Amino acid sequence: MTESTHAFATQAVHAGTPADPATGARVTPIYQNTSYVFEDSAHAAALFNLEKVGYIYSRLTNPTVMALQQRLAALEGGAGATCTASGHAAQLMTLFALMGPGDNVVASNRLYGGSLNQFSNAIRKFGWEARFVDATDPAKVAEAIDAKTKAVFVEVLANPGGIVLDLAALAEAAHDNPTGPVPLIVDNTLATPYLLRPFEHGADIVVHSTTKFLSGQGTALGGVAVDSGKFDFAAQPDRFPSLARPVPDYHGMVFTETFGPAALTMFNHAIGLRDLGAAQSPMNAFLTLSGIETLPLRMARHSDNALAVAQWLKRHAAVSWVSYAGLADSPYHALARRYLPRGAGAVFTFGLKGGYEAGVKVVEGVKLISHLANIGDTRSLIIHPASTTHRQLPEEGQIAAGAGPDVVRLSVGIEAVEDIVADLDQAIANAG
Ligand SMILES: *Cc1c(COP(=O)(O)O)cnc(C)c1O
Repeated sequence: MTESTHAFATQAVHAGTPADPATGARVTPIYQNTSYVFEDSAHAAALFNLEKVGYIYSRLTNPTVMALQQRLAALEGGAGATCTASGHAAQLMTLFALMGPGDNVVASNRLYGGSLNQFSNAIRKFGWEARFVDATDPAKVAEAIDAKTKAVFVEVLANPGGIVLDLAALAEAAHDNPTGPVPLIVDNTLATPYLLRPFEHGADIVVHSTTKFLSGQGTALGGVAVDSGKFDFAAQPDRFPSLARPVPDYHGMVFTETFGPAALTMFNHAIGLRDLGAAQSPMNAFLTLSGIETLPLRMARHSDNALAVAQWLKRHAAVSWVSYAGLADSPYHALARRYLPRGAGAVFTFGLKGGYEAGVKVVEGVKLISHLANIGDTRSLIIHPASTTHRQLPEEGQIAAGAGPDVVRLSVGIEAVEDIVADLDQAIANAG
């Protein structure tokens, strides 16, 4: 077993995964089960009433997925975690616990393209609204909050742009506003808890696409919502009725009264996963657990390689700009040093003087680097967002999201850096 006093690298290998209690298997098995036998009717009733923690049906919980939840809660320093089928499912499930029709979430306009789509269009079908603001200015976030705001949502290290937000100032904006505190949700996918632990700077909820750096090898889709357990939902029961008012589903139980700091995590399992149905598969949880064991090694190497590639691009005659917070002249360098002292991550963008045409040619010309829509793989990956991930957005929306026509995004892998540079060199040369 791990202790919470163990260092991060030790917890990355051990947290949540003692030897299997049933068999002694050292690696947590893939519990490829949909359902679990009850001891007797009293045991079944206690499980269904949430009086006892245990396994009923794998849409709610599964032992392999549970191990991953415990590991992720430990790595983020949270009170509990709920895994989902994908990062987007984790975002939707988190809003589902907080929002009702007519409510809004104040969101940074520097988000992953898929999140901009989810927040601009899909959530409207629930009667929810996202208010996008320039979160590089925390005052703009504070101004956008009203009585119907239920959360603030940001990526501190933003995809795709090499932008770092002032996390502590954003937490203050979310907590100290005239309408009463709202939780700050951080999508920590790009940083991972190795580079940044948002709870240490005032965030309340962390979500991840574990598809990316946590699983790390491009093999498993998944997501997670981790709750710090510190936000006081009970202080504003009318604002957060799902958590702080009696729920009809469970005989009028109040989650905050019954579960205290585990209220949101219990709600996510008992109602979020139960009703939205976006459970993670045990196979993907197994792959993600294995991947996380090397997270500290990989993130250090990803960040070192990314810095070297960014410095090289910066000197290249065909490159007009490089947006990487690890570069000393980045406007976000001071924030990166404060919040990401171990490195500024693997994902960044650069601009080609040849614009849209050159961007398309470079992504078609690389040989070692893969042209695809993913980040956080051991392999180096490249994409031209304006023609792919951000193509649904109008041009001004693309530019606001850091994905204008000349922009190329890299997710720098853990290969030998000289090979990554050589591949980019030939692709840029061939693009003219
Ligand atoms: C990929 C990604 C998501 C969405 O995650 P999926 O697992 O693809 O659903 C959300 N946020 C960020 C920052 C991402 O990179």
